[in-house]
Amino acid sequence: MANSKYEYVKSYEFEDEIMQPNLIVVRLDGRNFERFSEIHEFEKPNDVRALNLMNSCATAVVEEYPDIVFSYGFDDEYSFVFKKTSNFYQRRASKMLTLIVSFFSSVYATKWKEFFPQKELEYPPSFHARVISCATLEVLQVYLAWRQNACHSDNLCRTCFWMLIRSGKTIEEAKEALKDCQKEEKNELLFQRFGINYKKLPEMFRQGSCIFKTEVEVVVKYDEHGNPIKRLRRKPNIVHTQNIVAKKFWNEQLVLVKELGGFEDEIAKIKTEYVKSFLFENKLLPSTYIVIRIDGCHFHRFSDIHGFEKPNDAQALNLMNTCAVAVLKEFHDIVFAYGVSDEYSFVLRKNSQFNQRQASVYKTDNIFSSQIVSAIVSFFSTMYAMKWKEFFPQKNLKYPPSFDGRAVCYPSEEILQDYLAWRQVDCHINNQYNTCFWMLVKSGKTKAEAQQCLKGTQTQEKYELLSRQFGTDYSSLPVMFRQGSFVYRMKLQEVVVDHSNIIERSFWKEYSSILEEMPAHTSAANECTQTSVSAS
Ligand code: ATP
Ligand code: ATP
Ligand code: MG
Ligand code: MG
Repeated sequence: MANSKYEYVKSYEFEDEIMQPNLIVVRLDGRNFERFSEIHEFEKPNDVRALNLMNSCATAVVEEYPDIVFSYGFDDEYSFVFKKTSNFYQRRASKMLTLIVSFFSSVYATKWKEFFPQKELEYPPSFHARVISCATLEVLQVYLAWRQNACHSDNLCRTCFWMLIRSGKTIEEAKEALKDCQKEEKNELLFQRFGINYKKLPEMFRQGSCIFKTEVEVVVKYDEHGNPIKRLRRKPNIVHTQNIVAKKFWNEQLVLVKELGGFEDEIAKIKTEYVKSFLFENKLLPSTYIVIRIDGCHFHRFSDIHGFEKPNDAQALNLMNTCAVAVLKEFHDIVFAYGVSDEYSFVLRKNSQFNQRQASVYKTDNIFSSQIVSAIVSFFSTMYAMKWKEFFPQKNLKYPPSFDGRAVCYPSEEILQDYLAWRQVDCHINNQYNTCFWMLVKSGKTKAEAQQCLKGTQTQEKYELLSRQFGTDYSSLPVMFRQGSFVYRMKLQEVVVDHSNIIERSFWKEYSSILEEMPAHTSAANECTQTSVSAS
């Protein structure tokens, strides 16, 4: 990032490193999957294809990020456990959280057809995620036991519910019949009324799935005499087991014992105080402008591998803009977005009630950083994967793109405008440099020579170089390249992309309505509606 007088806004970003020796878990959960599963006609209570798709995405995550040594999932959720010595992204919670949820989401979108060949994705599935930091191995053990308990009890309940519905009961009647019903009674109900022995139902439904690696010997090459040279490699396996935190099961897995430790005791009872500690989350300062900035992960490589035009691939930028428009349509609390290259900043209105529905599960009136950031990053990532073909009909996605994200609170309109100015100054400086660099390279210089040529040059010198050597007037290049793109909602709620100088305060005078505060009830009513993909 380039230097400018707006640089000071960086000081509002906060560190969220999870200190050693805490064990780190990232848990993600389908956003609004009740509706997603209905629209995509999942079999009830358990759609095997959907569960296999979740398992396949989780396996891809485990393969992509070697620091993840154990994962456990059921229904629309998955928990990923990092090895105790992990230094993944310096243990910064928002980075870990967003990269995992972003990668998982874009794999989900790209693999959808493999598992549902007959069904189109009607709209982008997305996930919200959070980090759980476990102070000790025992806390991790309790956490995992808690999740597997939830799997057991949710599945038993859903199985009863759907059997009652199939037998002709209405939703209300089925709910009433199951109210205050204990586990044994539910088992009994299934057996007596429907002849189902719950214990005989598929393990994956009742016990969830866990993925961990085992070490296997693989042939890596052959020596000069043709003898195989073998090395130990870690391969992920999907396993279903009655009790994932049983000492007997866990302590037999060498990789788990090595990377996390062995369990000392069996879990007798899950204590409420432990569960409360899992529910702790960082909240964002109220009455501030919240900005969620997302940025493509290793897009230098991604753009190379996918043959982006240099320095600016217009189609890649249009794809980013389309995803940003979809984000504004999906999340009504976002009033403005500014994007350049592989990054986008989304501005939430000051009195945002974003995700109140989820937040209120734990506490009211709190806005949780992880909920907001993960939902936006996840939605953006699925959208990017789904829309890829529209923008690059001749190119296949070689691997799932991912984005990281962070939330920063800015206390005043002025500082928010400085933040956006900072991003646009960065766009200008980088674009001018890249334009010169690529013109030099395309004219026959090596990358090192081009770099040397530009070292220490000021803005004016770059203008002159372009005009003198290449006959190019920088200011006549496409405005989207020079100034980036902004997205906002017009009066009639239409979401549009435009390009302008947003550094000048006159921009904010002209568009004064964008940051105007809305009465709180209006913004709450607008919260989280799903957008159809074809609508963008
Ligand atoms: P939130 O956004 O708060 O997570 P949600 O609608 O996703 O809300 P959850 O409590 O996470 O609600 O429950 C997920 C729901 O998705 C389940 O109740 C179930 O109806 C549905 N679902 C998820 N996976 C499957 C599956 N494999 N087969 C059938 N239904 C599923
Ligand atoms: P990180 O994971 O740290 O973000 P990165 O490789 O994504 O690393 P950035 O500083 O984010 O690095 O820069 C993004 C890079 O992606 C640019 O330098 C450029 O090479 C490439 N890129 C992104 N969008 C485009 C585009 N529309 N046209 C051409 N290249 C692009
Ligand atoms: Mg869910
Ligand atoms: Mg990047």
